[in-house]
Amino acid sequence: MLEYLRTARERPVWRPVPADVRRRLSGPAPRGPTTAADVYEEFKRDVLPYPTGNIHPRFWGWVIGTGTPLGMLADMLASGMNPQVAEFDDSSAVVENQVIGWLVELLGLPAGTHGLLVSGGSMANFVGLAVARNARAGFDIREHGVHGGPKLTVYASTETHSSVRKAVELLGLGHDALRSIPVTADYAIDLQALRETLAADQAAGRRPICIVGNAGTVNTGATDDLRALAEICRAEKLWLHVDGAFGALAALVPQLRPLVRGLEQADSVAFDLHKWLYMPYEVGCTLVRDQNAHRATFNVTPAYLASFNRGIAAGGFPFAERGVQLSRGFRALKVWMSFKTHGLDAFAQLIHQNVRQAHYLAGLVTKHPRLELLAPAPLNVVCFRFVASGADEATLNVLNTEILLRIQESGLAIPSQTVLNGKFAIRVAVTNHRSRREDFDLLVKAVVETGAAVLRGA
Ligand SMILES: *Cc1c(COP(=O)(O)O)cnc(C)c1O
Repeated sequence: MLEYLRTARERPVWRPVPADVRRRLSGPAPRGPTTAADVYEEFKRDVLPYPTGNIHPRFWGWVIGTGTPLGMLADMLASGMNPQVAEFDDSSAVVENQVIGWLVELLGLPAGTHGLLVSGGSMANFVGLAVARNARAGFDIREHGVHGGPKLTVYASTETHSSVRKAVELLGLGHDALRSIPVTADYAIDLQALRETLAADQAAGRRPICIVGNAGTVNTGATDDLRALAEICRAEKLWLHVDGAFGALAALVPQLRPLVRGLEQADSVAFDLHKWLYMPYEVGCTLVRDQNAHRATFNVTPAYLASFNRGIAAGGFPFAERGVQLSRGFRALKVWMSFKTHGLDAFAQLIHQNVRQAHYLAGLVTKHPRLELLAPAPLNVVCFRFVASGADEATLNVLNTEILLRIQESGLAIPSQTVLNGKFAIRVAVTNHRSRREDFDLLVKAVVETGAAVLRGA
């Protein structure tokens, strides 16, 4: 695997799983044994050559992290120890608490803030919003459920990630409880529209409970005015949850920290370590300022889970009472070992490097007569398209879709897509510590050449 990682740049970023491999990977369950050596050969032949490709230096689709060799080794150690990180008095719990303490410090939240490592940003949003709902409902929602009570409402911009909608729906509030607020030209929440919707909902007898602020939206990397949101939340007694899946990590870089100002005032923050901290999947985090509210959402203690002051079940605030999972793996070890080995300054430098690379790409796009930047690029996300004189919007959308797919299929690079104001955008999100500047030169060259080829009918 070390050799495989070292040579990642030499392979295509992505290639589809061939038909014969698919066939071999669709047989019945193996009743009898095969030697590990033979299974390993099968792995090398059928599995290893066809990954997502995110370990490659030119993978910039969606928001996908790269993983590090050290993280890989730490995951092996964690698997070998195989602790059950639920509530026991063992080293894994102490390490996770230390990691959470570090993350609280790095994001600038007050001491005493607690948290939990989770599978990723989606679960992190779910946990934060569950605490928000229970803390601000105004009645015992755990006992009675949401039915019959006032309509509880949550506010977030139209640019908010789909996992927030999923969480609101799963929390029983209903999709119509998620009040989608328009954005301004910079893709940040329109504060005036937010205030008006809040007032209208209050007048109509609904009960606003929470505002979800974005630190780095998935589409364009925009950040809401978190200080203004915190102020509204204080005045209206609402919970401020920040989805900072990748953007929150900008707080590690002194020069970028102003972009996410106000993050430290959130009641809860969700973010990922498998995106912009380059950890192998899966690890995300929810931080919650009010430990009592946090515990009051998830604690259920049957006799078989009771803890004592002594013995193995004396682990403090059980992780099982901080979220959904009871059985949990040792996610913290790769974070702990990586922070210590590389030092946080190295992570900050890489995050800053990715932002500078995104700005470099945005500069190349702006300068090129056949390319158009489709949104401001304040952070690490660049949305652009190829333009052809005289082509209408519908034609440009078809043209740019074709360019994107051809580039993906060529194996040269993996950008993804989005649609901004009806315009199909080629979208590059840089959370890749292996990318170099010349990789972005290659992408621009490929987009321009592919666009010209499609126009020629080639
Ligand atoms: C990726 C992402 C999520 C979801 O995180 P997962 O780790 O994929 O579950 C939520 N919000 C934003 C802004 C994201 O970029």
